[in-house]
Amino acid sequence: MKMRELRSPVTSSDGSSRRRFLRQVGAAAAAAWIEVAGGAEEKAMPAIPIVDTHEHLWDLEKVRLPWLQSAEEVLRHSHVTKDYVEATAGLNVVKAVYMEVDVAAECKLAEAKYVLEICQRGDTPMVAAVIGGYPAAEDFRQYITQFKGSRYIKGVRQIVGEAGMFADGGFRRGIGLLGELGMSFDLCHSPQMLVDAGRLVDACPGTRFILDHCGNADVKWFMAEGKDQADARQRWRRDIGELARRKNVVCKISGIVASAPKGRWTADDLAPIVNHCIEVFGPDRVMFAGDWPVCTRVATFREWVGALKQIVGTRIALEQRKLFHDNAVGFYGLG
Ligand SMILES: [Zn+2]
Repeated sequence: MKMRELRSPVTSSDGSSRRRFLRQVGAAAAAAWIEVAGGAEEKAMPAIPIVDTHEHLWDLEKVRLPWLQSAEEVLRHSHVTKDYVEATAGLNVVKAVYMEVDVAAECKLAEAKYVLEICQRGDTPMVAAVIGGYPAAEDFRQYITQFKGSRYIKGVRQIVGEAGMFADGGFRRGIGLLGELGMSFDLCHSPQMLVDAGRLVDACPGTRFILDHCGNADVKWFMAEGKDQADARQRWRRDIGELARRKNVVCKISGIVASAPKGRWTADDLAPIVNHCIEVFGPDRVMFAGDWPVCTRVATFREWVGALKQIVGTRIALEQRKLFHDNAVGFYGLG
C-alpha cells in the first residue's frame, strides 16, 4: 500500500512562506493519495472543497486548559495555526471555524481575542469562531454583547456535564439571548442527555443549535466488542432522531473517531453513526467537522476525512458537497 506524504515546507509563520506553501499544496492536492486506517483501499481524493466547522487551537503561552493535565500525551502541548495547516495539507480545506477549547474561566476573553486576531488577519483558513462562555452566568449578557455584530464571532459553546443545566432558567435566558444576537449555541454533552437537550431547544425557539459530534455516540457500540450494547445503540438512535425533528438544530458529523479503538477501526465501523445522522437530519442539516487535534488521539485529520469520504462516497455529489462545504457556508454565512 502506497502512501504519499505531503510534508509542509513551512518554517516560519510569516505570510509569504505560507502563501507559497498553499500554492505548493494546492498543486499537490490533485495527486494526493490517502490511506484509511484499517487497510481500506487507497483511492484518489476528489477535489471537493472542505469547510472545517470545528478547528481547535491552543497556545499554552496565552491560555490555560485545566483538562489537558489528564489528557493524552499527544494533546499536552500547544497546537497552533502552523500545526493545523500541516495536518490539513492537501485536503482542500478552504475555510475553518474555530471551536472553543474549554480554557480556564479567567482565560475566556484572552481566547476570544486570540482567535479574533487570527480571523481578522485573514491569512489562514480560519474565517469565523465559536467562543467559550457561560450562558447561566450573571455577567453573560455583558460578556457576549461585546461581540454583538462581529462578523467573526458566530456563537458560543459550553460543554455541559449535567442534564439539569439544560433546564436552568438562567442558562435558558443566556441561550435565548444568543438567538437575539444572531448567534448559535453548540450542544456538546453525553448521548444520555439528548432528550434534555431537546427540551432546551424547545425552550429557545429563536436560537440556532449545532449538535456536536453526532451526539457523542461511541463507535465501540457498533463494533464486535460492543455487541452487548444494544440498549445504548437503540437509545442513541431514537433520541437523536427525536432531536433532529427540531428544525433549528443541525448536526456536526465529527468527533466519533476519537471513541474508536486506536489502530483497530475502519470506515465501516463509523458508518452506522454517520449514516443515521444524515438520515435523521437530512442532507441539508449536517456539516463536516475535523475536531483536530482531538481526533489525533485515534486518527489523523487526513484519516478521518478519508474515512468519511469513503462512507458517503456512494451518495450523490451534491449531498457530499453540502456535507463538506455548502451547509457550513450557508449556516455561518461564510459566502
Ligand atoms: Zn472538539
